[in-house]
Amino acid sequence: MADLIVRKKLYLIGVDSAPLWLIEKLQKKHGMHGFEKFAKEGMLRNLESTLPPVTAAAWPSIYTGLEPGEHGVMDFLCIDSKYSKQLIYYDPSKFPPFWDTLAKKGLRSLVITPAMSLQKSPSDNVDIITGWPLQPRYSSKELEDAAKEFGFKGEPEIGLELEKGEMSVEQASKRYLRSIKARSELSKYLIHKNDYDLVFVCFTETDRIQHYALSLDSWEKSVAPLYKSISDFVEWVMDYTAKEKENSMVMLVSDHGAQPIKNKFLINAWLVQNGFAKLKGDVKTKSASGIGTSVRKQIRERVMKIGIRRAVYNAMPGALRKMVERLVDEIPDEQYIGGQYRKIYETDFDMRSTKAFAAISFGTIGMIWLNDKRFSSQGIDSSEIGRVKEAIISALKGLKSAEGDKLVIGIYDGKRYYGNRNDFIVPDIMFEMKENYINDFSYFSSSELFMEPEINRKGDHSRLGIIGLVGSGVDIKKMSKRKIAVQNVGPTILAYFGDKSMKDRSLL
Ligand SMILES: [Zn+2]
Repeated sequence: MADLIVRKKLYLIGVDSAPLWLIEKLQKKHGMHGFEKFAKEGMLRNLESTLPPVTAAAWPSIYTGLEPGEHGVMDFLCIDSKYSKQLIYYDPSKFPPFWDTLAKKGLRSLVITPAMSLQKSPSDNVDIITGWPLQPRYSSKELEDAAKEFGFKGEPEIGLELEKGEMSVEQASKRYLRSIKARSELSKYLIHKNDYDLVFVCFTETDRIQHYALSLDSWEKSVAPLYKSISDFVEWVMDYTAKEKENSMVMLVSDHGAQPIKNKFLINAWLVQNGFAKLKGDVKTKSASGIGTSVRKQIRERVMKIGIRRAVYNAMPGALRKMVERLVDEIPDEQYIGGQYRKIYETDFDMRSTKAFAAISFGTIGMIWLNDKRFSSQGIDSSEIGRVKEAIISALKGLKSAEGDKLVIGIYDGKRYYGNRNDFIVPDIMFEMKENYINDFSYFSSSELFMEPEINRKGDHSRLGIIGLVGSGVDIKKMSKRKIAVQNVGPTILAYFGDKSMKDRSLL
């Protein structure tokens, strides 16, 4: 334990949704000197995210050094045997984040808005403001007062206004920029005021803006100022730790990348059109299923107002919750419904005649489940499983994009990735789309396979985020050959402070 006594400091800056291409494209032109310093003085590299590359799974991997199959969070939701979607959450009491592990060894941390970490630390050694997607909670009155003083209230919840077109992307960018600046100033104040071994500040506004902006012609105008502001904070941290003559390491990490989205592939429409899935007879002709459109809109608006989609409905009364489950991913103006496209749900499938269906993961990675005995309305018996799986994989491989080239660039086995689990039903096939495409399981068309992305899908996640390292203990040569993934981050931090318990996954 002697090495723990050496006073070392570590600063970790988290940027939700930051790919290398974006930083490299913007940094010179917009004077992002903080980011530039990583490449000049240390390293700035690609960081492999989880499958699928989603915030809900990737941050817990960063915090724990575990893969999704180990920490058990595949996405915000999972699917149960009755085809309903259930919330899943990262549980820090089961799989402690690095700051809690270090706290047990007597090290003090400041942790500001870690994405997906919604609970205060059990240790007094951790000053924490909890992260997105819920409203911030504070580990002490001191923190709460400081946040108030700097005008920091967490990431602004303006998704509904944006989707309804009541707020422009430029206006949203300004709001997000204000909250990034407030978080930075608050963090600077606390770093000055208290003496921490570890400081972790996590910025999430960048993930929100990219979804609305990346494929717009004017994307740079609304996106660049956010990254520039975070880069300024990084630069301040580097200057500060140098000025204080600290023995420190500065790390930059993002949970996944981002890319402009030009087209959506409708996976369930494809499964139906190819005879792998069947919808109930009346679904194709009904204009809106279940409850009336105005009621649906009203509920959805309420959901969006209460907080961020998905994260809120476990706090709602049962009946409302059931309806909300069907509405969380719905577009607000329902512009496509009644045209060539209509929204479909798991309940719209004739499951007894459905061999496979897609759910849960929008984005560059799609997920397909074989409708076997794990589900309540089994549509495929055990003798068919291998053949159907192979048929779907081979058909996926043969798919052409709207441009005529290969649409699916990778196929992954869900069981191999997640292992056999008791707590959720693992997808059988995961498939990766080509650049600038995402998959979408929530629309049906009997004639179309592609659809233009909605207003909140103009950008989406890509599989490579970034990792940056600058500091005395960084051996860049040693790292230059190896592939670095999100689960290497936590163990590297632990090893830096002398905890070798996850040495195999550490970069040091
Ligand atoms: Zn993210």
